[in-house]
Amino acid sequence: MASNAMCLFCRIASGEIPAKKIVDDPDVVAFQDVNPQAPSHVLVIPRKHIPSLDDLTDADAATIGHTLVRAAQLARELNLHDDGYRVVINNGPAAGQSVFHIHVHVLGGRQFRWPPG
Ligand code: AMP
Repeated sequence: MASNAMCLFCRIASGEIPAKKIVDDPDVVAFQDVNPQAPSHVLVIPRKHIPSLDDLTDADAATIGHTLVRAAQLARELNLHDDGYRVVINNGPAAGQSVFHIHVHVLGGRQFRWPPG
């Protein structure tokens, strides 16, 4: 599976860099965000190295689909679904993307505002 030896999240997915993993599936990994912005803040990533949403192609449809489905399942497992939760994919510098391996933020456990900051 395509991975990038220089990429932080590829290295977390492979186990080379430690993280608090809560999903370790063949295609998808999830772990606790090191700087949580809510009582529950999990990052869900495909193992495949895709830098950003902007890099997705039709060939990635199943990969990103699995990632989103797993994010929703995980939110349910974490019991976030009754109150609701927020799912965020930052794309590019203006959105605040800081790690260029596509990742889905799943945030819950508090009330969120709209529009986001
Ligand atoms: P973004 O700003 O959308 O690219 O999100 C990157 C996220 O990765 C931020 O919320 C960081 O707190 C988180 N992060 C950075 N390094 C680590 C790490 N080693 N383990 C877990 N989360 C991390």
